[in-house]
This record gives sequence, structure tokens and C-alpha cells, in this order.
Amino acid sequence: MTERLGLLGGTFDPPHVGHLFLAYTALEELGLDHVVFVPARQQPLKAGRDAASAADRLEMTRLLVADDPRMSVDPIELDRDGLSYSIDTVRAFRAARPGAELVFLMGEDTAATLPKWREPEALASLARLVVLTRGRAGSAETSAPALPFPVERIATRRIDVSATEVRSRVRAGLPLRGFVPDAVARYIAEHDLYRTTTE
Ligand code: ATP
Repeated sequence: MTERLGLLGGTFDPPHVGHLFLAYTALEELGLDHVVFVPARQQPLKAGRDAASAADRLEMTRLLVADDPRMSVDPIELDRDGLSYSIDTVRAFRAARPGAELVFLMGEDTAATLPKWREPEALASLARLVVLTRGRAGSAETSAPALPFPVERIATRRIDVSATEVRSRVRAGLPLRGFVPDAVARYIAEHDLYRTTTE
């Protein structure tokens, strides 16, 4: 049987429960065998904005995924110099797993920026592009920008958590319980992350 592999890129600065629910929904609704989290070294559209180091973001993403056998973390973009372009990553996965069906996952805010990406048409030809919209689970919404390549949309649970909010909670000295797994909250505290970052 063809392996169906989901790829979830992001800055994961820090990773949070919204990312986990996106992955759970993709696994269940799309019948994926596995989701690979791919932390970006430098997301081209967020250049200069990351608050934690690449090593810290990688470690926190590993703590988020923990021992769930359906998910893993791949440092492929951290091992590459310069800006992290998804097309390079998808080409590498395609070369390494020629028989797999690749499903490139993204949230709505990310999908809105697709036209600004490097070679989005090539990306769409190598992987299924799937946007997880933050509607009610099971009710697909269609507010996609018109794009010259196919993009699927499925509804995911509305989890109103962002990394921006997690960072601002740290700055305000508020607890992170429920926003991130306890292991990630502990990592943030022990490494004194985000306390003094400016947005
Ligand atoms: P920031 O607040 O710093 O912009 P973020 O919380 O959006 O960060 P990213 O690492 O940029 O986190 O997101 C990785 C992917 O996860 C993106 O495709 C984004 O759209 C998606 N995503 C982030 N938060 C959620 C959420 N609460 N529900 C569904 N998808 C999400």
C-alpha cells in the first residue's frame, strides 16, 4: 500500500496544542500514516522574527510530539543554510520516499501567503496541498483565495491558540498549562525563553 505522509512546516516558536490538533485532524480525516513536523530554520515570510533558537524550537517540537508513534520531527530545514523554502523540503522528501503520497499541511493563515512562496506550482505538483480551516470539524469552508493550482480544504477544530499568544503569556508571567504540553512549558521555563522577547 502507498504510504501517505503528511508534512507540517512551521516555526514552532513555540509549538502548541493548535499544532497537535492540526496533526490529529489530518491523520484521521485524510487517513495519513504519519505526520512529520518540519521546523523552519528561517521562514522566509517571518525572517528575523523568531524568538527562540533553532535548537530550542527543534527540541520543543520533539517534546510536543513526545512518544506518539503517528508523528515525528525532521530537522531537514535546520540542517540547510539560509531561508527555508518548502519546495526544497518537499523535493528532498520526494527523492527520499519516491513511492509515498506526500500531503503538505497548512493552516489558513499560512495558506493565505501561498502566492508569495517560491515555486508554489511545483510544490502542488509534488504534493497534495491541504489547508486545515478552523471551522467546525466536519464542515468544510471555502474562503480560499483563487490559486492556479489545486488546494484541498478540510475543517479542523477551532483551537484559538497561537505561538504569538503563548509568547505573550510568558512575557506577562501567565501559566501555559493547556496551551502547550507540560513538557514544553517546563522547557520554556528552564531555558528562560520568551520572557524578554519583543514582538
Ligand atoms: P505565530 O503566532 O508565531 O505566527 P503560529 O502559532 O501560527 O505562529 P506556526 O509555527 O507559524 O505557528 O504554524 C505552523 C502551522 O500550523 C501553520 O500552517 C499554521 O497555519 C498552523 N497553525 C498554527 N496554529 C494553529 C491553530 N491554532 N489551529 C490550526 N492550525 C494552526
